[in-house]
Amino acid sequence: MIIVPEAAIADILTRADAFTAVEQVFAAMSAGDACNFPVIREAIGHEEALYGFKGGFDGKGMALGLKAGGYWPHNLEKRGLINHQSTVFLFDPDTGTVAAMVGGNLLTALRTAAASSVSIKHLARKDAKVMGMIGAGHQAKFQLRAALETHSFEKVIGWNYHPEMLPGLAAVAEEAGVPFEEVSLDGMVEADVVISITSVFSPIFGAAHISPGTHVACMGTDTVGKQECETDLVVKATVFTDEVAQSVTLGEAQHAVSAGLKQRDDIHEIGAVINGRHPGRTGDDEITLFDGTGVGLQDLAVASSIVDRAVEQGVAIEVDF
Ligand code: NAD
Repeated sequence: MIIVPEAAIADILTRADAFTAVEQVFAAMSAGDACNFPVIREAIGHEEALYGFKGGFDGKGMALGLKAGGYWPHNLEKRGLINHQSTVFLFDPDTGTVAAMVGGNLLTALRTAAASSVSIKHLARKDAKVMGMIGAGHQAKFQLRAALETHSFEKVIGWNYHPEMLPGLAAVAEEAGVPFEEVSLDGMVEADVVISITSVFSPIFGAAHISPGTHVACMGTDTVGKQECETDLVVKATVFTDEVAQSVTLGEAQHAVSAGLKQRDDIHEIGAVINGRHPGRTGDDEITLFDGTGVGLQDLAVASSIVDRAVEQGVAIEVDF
């Protein structure tokens, strides 16, 4: 069994690799070559933590396994640890023997950022100029960095419920050489692309904050009961997702679908757009919304892509198990 420690991931996993792995696995899912297993994600009644498992099998990339972990909201303030904690386990699809254990924290941030970036590549208007951020926590910085590498934006605007966190986003924009401006939520109408990545359970923005033609990537809602945007936006937008089953149960679309405002059949796989089976955006005034729920196959694809490299670079630990 090979162990790739969390501390080694930064040196071996690039944003470009994560993007490619995620784009390919979304395509494989849509083609029926890869399948996610039902997600388990539960409040454990301790530290207000959400903990669970996301697994699956990619018969094209031959990746089998799961990610175990979740979200501990008080880690940072109490212990100086990031709030997300997870580990990926890979198994040999031929034998079921455990093949690798891979640190999942940075990997999660990079694969989640890759997902919104894949959506920007395939769904945003090519002339998009203003990138809008709703949220400024740990994931938000990765999201913005990846978005700025995917598309050439002229300006970043940002809003966060805790404004003292916005300098972290401004630093990412500055590093990429793009000006940053703090805005009110109403100011978000200037954005051509919006990423929302907050941990809220009640909506903080809606159709009133989004202009025609905008692409919105809702990345924060990954659990039953969470909600970042009002259902009016989900209803108004053409909705795409990583996986429809997750979108309607634990993603941003869960509320509009359960209220009967949006039909399951009206939610499209981003993989179908990548594979050319769905046209994606069809007009400059269309609002597209990517419901990025986060699937286990993203984790497996990215983890698999780095195990061999970790061994080659001498940063993997090999153990008999
Ligand atoms: P974090 O704790 O670092 O940041 C939380 C963010 O939510 C901050 O911007 C904070 O200001 C905001 N927030 C908190 N309370 C709020 C409130 N009452 N009103 C408005 N905003 C509020 O968390 P993070 O690691 O950046 O993760 C953010 C979210 O992304 C989490 O919900 C997490 O579960 C989700 N996530 C999704 C995926 C996916 O694949 N879709 C992957 C990883 C994380």
